[in-house]
This record gives sequence, structure tokens and C-alpha cells, in this order.
Amino acid sequence: MVKICLACHYVNAGGYRCTECGGKLVMTSDPEAKALPESVWKNQRVDYGARRGMIMRFLAIFIGASVGLYGLRESFGLAAPWSRVVAVGSVALGLSTWWALYRAAGRGVRVWILAKGRVHTGRLARAIFAGWWPRRVRKTG
Ligand SMILES: [Zn+2]
Repeated sequence: MVKICLACHYVNAGGYRCTECGGKLVMTSDPEAKALPESVWKNQRVDYGARRGMIMRFLAIFIGASVGLYGLRESFGLAAPWSRVVAVGSVALGLSTWWALYRAAGRGVRVWILAKGRVHTGRLARAIFAGWWPRRVRKTG
């Protein structure tokens, strides 16, 4: 349970007294906590956002590597020209999976902070995924 210090605004993991200054701790849902300045909440969100982004970037590497290595392994069982095609394709797919998730992580954190954490999850997801690919669809003629 996350508790916030009324005196120095340090975020503690539970307890009744602040580990930094010994001040009174309140839960983030407390009316007393609501009276804290907006900058406190902004720092909180940046903190949470950075942590979320880090987890997602780690997952991105993990998922990307899994996709790439799985395809690479499968490619060894195939005949001559296809084994190479699948091998290269898998590595490319793994890299683009990683890149897409990595981008989504950075974007998600930004969207989340800007929206002050009050965005509906569905809308947040849409905002993230909408900007995935560069839109350079130009009509000729
Ligand atoms: Zn404190």
C-alpha cells in the first residue's frame, strides 16, 4: 500500500511514520492527501509512468527475442531456400515487434502523464496504438 508523507511528500510503502522525516503518512485516497499540491501528483505519475515504461520495455525485448528465436529455430527444419527466408524474416519480425512495443511504451507513458491518469483504459490504448505507424500514405495523381 502506497502512503504519502504530508510533511515532505515522500512516498512510503505503508507504515504510519515517514521513513525520511518521521512525518505523518496518509493514504493517497485520503482527503488530506487531496489537499497536497498538484506537483506532488505529477511527480507521482512520472514515477509510476517511468516504472511502467521500464517493465514494458523489458517485455518488448523479451517478446521480440522470443519471436525472432522461435522463427529462427523453426527455419532449421525447412528446405534450402526457405530456411534462409524464414530465418531472416523471423529476425526482422522479432526486431519490429520489439521496436513497436518499445515505441508504444514511451508513448503510453507520455499519454498517461499528460492525461493525468484519468483516461479510460480503452481510450488510452487507442491513443497508443493509433500512433504506431508513421502515416505517410500519399495519394498520387
Ligand atoms: Zn516525510
